[in-house]
Parts: sequence; structure tokens; C-alpha cells
Amino acid sequence: MTEIKFTIDGKACTARPGQTIVEAAKANGVYIPVLCRYEGLKPAGSCRICTVRVGGRPVAACTQPVAEGMVVENATPELEDMRRAVVEMLFVEGNHLCPSCEKSGNCELQALAYRFRMLAPRFPFQWPLRATDGSLPKIIMEHNRCIQCLRCVRSIRTEDGKGIFAAQERAGRMRIGVDPELAARLDDETARKAMDICPVGAILRKEVGFAVPIGRRKFDRAPIGSEIESK
Ligand code: SF4
Repeated sequence: MTEIKFTIDGKACTARPGQTIVEAAKANGVYIPVLCRYEGLKPAGSCRICTVRVGGRPVAACTQPVAEGMVVENATPELEDMRRAVVEMLFVEGNHLCPSCEKSGNCELQALAYRFRMLAPRFPFQWPLRATDGSLPKIIMEHNRCIQCLRCVRSIRTEDGKGIFAAQERAGRMRIGVDPELAARLDDETARKAMDICPVGAILRKEVGFAVPIGRRKFDRAPIGSEIESK
């Protein structure tokens, strides 16, 4: 198989044909932050946190395949500030009250905020009014925390392949809808998978809470991206 040679921030890297920049970066020990991507799911390129510059142009690293001789800029001050701004926008657009969230310590948005040393967001808080849906048997939908990454829409299905989650409306009014009949058929394992695949605390398992104490969770033990950067 032909090996592709390219660079990220001057570091010589190699990739397999068809690998995206995010995948190849990971294989070369370079972390590119991304929220909408999940291993095994078709990339959506929707959150834009993984934006890098290729030949000076901004591209989504989770969807852009690597090409021979590509020169990728990743951890520049400009791109890092753009990523911090996106994280800040996500924080002000919803209601993210980390100290009271079941996902604290396992939340990728919170972990990125720590990575980018976010203190007070530069944008005004929107404080949207969104209802929490506790009517479903296995899960709670906490729409206040949804960042519309669509991971749940792309991944969680019934045994016969029907999507349980769907994007409803568009732009500022977009929200994640749940089919109540299909959600009623969710087994414990799939409900747990839905909670795990959600990068924030928007999908929570009912009747299971704080099984692992805050302080001993994934990103309490190691910062996000460190498992790639320490390779
Ligand atoms: S509910 Fe979670 S996984 Fe689904 S779109 Fe919202 S943030 Fe993403």
C-alpha cells in the first residue's frame, strides 16, 4: 500500500490512502480536537472544532482526506483561539452547569474548555429556555446541554435499523427529537451506549447516576487528547 507523506505543524507524518487528517494525525501522535466525530461513525464535519489550515485555507480535518505533500497547520495560536471561540459559543448557546451535571469529568465539551483554558466566555450567555424530557423509560433528554453534534442521530438505532433520534427544525430552532415508541424499545445496553456516545450530558441513563464519583472520571484522570499526544 502506498504511503502518503505530509506534515502537521512541520512534523513529518505518514498516512494510508483514504485516511482523513484527523485519523492520520492520531496515528502520528498529533491530537486534533473534534466534538462531532466518533470512532466508527461517518464523519459529519459539523462542529468545526477540528478546523486546520491546508495551503492556508481552512478545512475540516475530520472529513478532509490526506494528500501527498500536504502541509497542515494545526496548533497555531490563530486556530487554537478559533477553537476556543467555538467552545465558548457552545457554552453560551446552551445551559451548561458543570458542577451539577452527571457527565462532569466525562464531558468532552468541559474537557476541551479545560484544554483551551477557557475562563469567562467572550460572548454573552443566551440562557435559552429548553424543556428537559423525562418521559422516556430508559433515558432523560436534557436539551439544555445538547450541542447538536448528531452523534446520537448517526449511531443509535433499533435492532431492525430504525433511527431513534432525529434532528428537527433547522438553524437556531434545531433540536434533537426522540421517537417515543422506538425509545420505549431501548434496552439497557443501547441506552448506556447513547449516553456514552453523547459528548455532553444531553442523554442520561435513567436510574443510574454518579456510579463513578466526580474526581475519578475519564478526564479527571487525564486531559482530553493526552492519550494521543503521549504516544
Ligand atoms: S443529544 Fe448528545 S449526541 Fe445527540 S446531538 Fe445532542 S449533544 Fe450530540
